[in-house]
Amino acid sequence: MERNEVNELIKTIEIHRPYFKSKLGKDTLQDLLKEWTNILAPYDYEDVKQNLYNFLNNESNYGKDPDVFILKKGLFTLDQKKDNAKGKIACQFCGRYLPILEMDKHESRCRSIKYLQRLYRTYFNRELEVKDLYNLNDKTFDESYIKVLEKVLPKVESDLERRGITNVIETYYGREPIYSYREL
Ligand SMILES: [Zn+2]
Repeated sequence: MERNEVNELIKTIEIHRPYFKSKLGKDTLQDLLKEWTNILAPYDYEDVKQNLYNFLNNESNYGKDPDVFILKKGLFTLDQKKDNAKGKIACQFCGRYLPILEMDKHESRCRSIKYLQRLYRTYFNRELEVKDLYNLNDKTFDESYIKVLEKVLPKVESDLERRGITNVIETYYGREPIYSYREL
C-alpha cells in the first residue's frame, strides 16, 4: 500500500479517536506517516483497513490508539498472497484451498462426505462427525460410505434417490446396477 492510503487510515483513526493527530503534533505525525508507510508498504490496503476496523469495533479497545503492528497483525503481504494463490484452487464443496493436483481426489471425497452429512440430517436428524472421514484411506471410507447408505435406504422417501442409492450399493458389491440410466 502507499502513502496516501496510510493517510486515509490516519483520517479514519482521527474520526474515531479525535485527539489522535493533535496528540502527536505535526512533526511526529509526519514521522509516523513515513514510518507506517515503510512498514505497511508490502501489505494490501483493503486488508489493513479491515484490521483497523476490527480494532475500532472491539469494545475492549475503547480509548486505545491502534499502532502499526496491530494494523498488520496476521496479514499476508501482497507477495505472500500471490504465492498462496499460485497453484491452489478452492474446493467447490467446502471452499478449502488446495493444490490443483490434489483437488480431484479431495473433491470426490468431499462430495461424498457432504452427501452423507445431508443424509444424516434428513434421516437421522443429527450431525455427522466429518473430520475423521477426510483422513480415512479409500477402502475404509468406501466401506463406511456404503454402510451409511444401507442404513439409510429403508428410510429414503424419494423413489429417485432410493434407486440411485440402490445402484451405488449394488455396484459396490460388484453386481449389475438394478435400475437403468433412464430410470434415474
Ligand atoms: Zn472440500
